[in-house]
Amino acid sequence: MPRSVECDVKELLKIVFSGLLPLVIEEVDDEGTELRLCARTPDRPAPCPLCGTHSTKVHAYHQRTLTDTPVDGRTVRVVVRVLRLACRARGCPRQTFREQLPGVLVRYQRRTSRLTAQIGAVVRELAGRAGTRVLSALAVRISKNTALRNLMRLPLPRHPVPRVLGVDDFALRKGRRYATVLTDAVTNTRIDVLPDRTADTLQASLRDHPGIEIVVRDGFAAYAEAIRRARPEVLQVADRWHLWHVRREALIGRVEVRDLRRRPVAAGR
Ligand SMILES: [Zn+2]
Repeated sequence: MPRSVECDVKELLKIVFSGLLPLVIEEVDDEGTELRLCARTPDRPAPCPLCGTHSTKVHAYHQRTLTDTPVDGRTVRVVVRVLRLACRARGCPRQTFREQLPGVLVRYQRRTSRLTAQIGAVVRELAGRAGTRVLSALAVRISKNTALRNLMRLPLPRHPVPRVLGVDDFALRKGRRYATVLTDAVTNTRIDVLPDRTADTLQASLRDHPGIEIVVRDGFAAYAEAIRRARPEVLQVADRWHLWHVRREALIGRVEVRDLRRRPVAAGR
């Protein structure tokens, strides 16, 4: 028996936008470089996150705009109508709550879970500008800072505590915001990423890593202070790159001073 055209379109939508299956797609607009979908949550009771009582009593409607994985090299923007439901359980302090769709709608996120996972897979290999360039070629447009924030949110696998720990900073926003990366200095494996480069943060992290014997670090004074405070028995070693950098800067300074001394003073000065 032949299937109706309408049925085929619905099936096709399910195949093309398979990550949005928990939603009811009502409209698809072709806007050139972007596909815009209007969707809603399905009509079914949702549990109150506090007491678990299911409710269908609508308190209000909200609209959320999400970005999903690209289709046909085009950005997929999804406008979803979400319900705020009233909890009917007597005495529940949570009078109203928003519907949640795990795997699609995550609280405060502007991307679907599977797009976030894809971004994570790219930035894990190519952080910063390289990652944003690859993602842009795949029609996922994010800033370098967003790429770094995604990288920072990725859960790290548990590594054994290294005997020799490397501590170095890197710029999240050059000249303004820095983070700290901890590595196993022998295997060059990333151990942890700290959200800033303050002494307090590094100190707390070092206390969580007993067993470290040597820390290889740059010349940043806050790091030296944190290591002294948290693990005074640990041997601190300046890393080779920073040692050479300091020597080079000192040498350039001396050459410039000598150069100035040799330069003839202009008449009248
Ligand atoms: Zn409740």
